[in-house]
Amino acid sequence: MSSQESSDWNGAVVRNRQPLQPITTAVSAELKRLPGIKAVIFDVYGTLLVSGSGDVGSADDSDRGDWIAAAIDACGIAVGSGRIPTMDDLRREIQRSNQQRVSPSCPKPEVDIVAVWRRTLAGCGLEDPGDPKSAWTATCVRLAAEYESRANPTWPMPAAVETLQKLSRMGMRLGIVSNAQGFTLPLVEDLAGRFGVDSVFDANLCVFSNRYRQAKPGPRLFDVLCDGLRRAGMSPSDAIYVGNDRLNDVWAATQAGLRTAWFAGDRRSLRDRNDDPRVAGLDQDIILTRLEQLLDCIDDLSAD
Ligand SMILES: [Mg+2]
Repeated sequence: MSSQESSDWNGAVVRNRQPLQPITTAVSAELKRLPGIKAVIFDVYGTLLVSGSGDVGSADDSDRGDWIAAAIDACGIAVGSGRIPTMDDLRREIQRSNQQRVSPSCPKPEVDIVAVWRRTLAGCGLEDPGDPKSAWTATCVRLAAEYESRANPTWPMPAAVETLQKLSRMGMRLGIVSNAQGFTLPLVEDLAGRFGVDSVFDANLCVFSNRYRQAKPGPRLFDVLCDGLRRAGMSPSDAIYVGNDRLNDVWAATQAGLRTAWFAGDRRSLRDRNDDPRVAGLDQDIILTRLEQLLDCIDDLSAD
């Protein structure tokens, strides 16, 4: 799928969104200078984006059934003799996919959400066998994005665009490690420019879970990132990872040897994970309540 096709098919996540402001948390910022940072790697949902659920595809809300019907309608899928899938139908396919792939080397599988939707529709008698295969794929991609735009609406985090641009001008290499799907790309490109054209992100330092079919906090995505850092002449400790989730982000990045910033700027996505033994005694380097606070903690490499 080309970048242009991806934007067209996945465009609902940008097109359908409404302004969302972060909700202040009770957590205080803890800032200090962190010398020697050369790369800043970001989580996406709940960090660069205000996200209703704080993660990709993880809302648990009773409105979901209506969102499925609305998304199916928006894609012009004829229900005919089939039926509109329920939330349970979708959840079952997600669980089946994850159960099939979980293993010691893949402790946290990631679904291919388009394949999940394709199987869910087929199970409800909604696949049109007369459709050329590629047209049906496009329909399933669009359906995933239409549903996501309703179930997990997003809006750029305040100062996200400006902070990314300033970090880039400071000489920082910028990257992403994200639990993501195809529809995450247009959201990132809306913030940061198009990959291969004018993105502030270094594509070699961007790791999206759907491409590896593994998710945070499993180690695979950070292993891939660390390979990219080493190829760019950096060690993991030259990089800081910024994320809203103390398990998926702070713990996982710490395991990989990165420095860490916990983003605690929105109650919607605040994940202290205090019930998980892995974060007991875990310390992030800094706590941010606004993204731009990061600018005061790292050195301007362009000033040399
Ligand atoms: Mg997040």
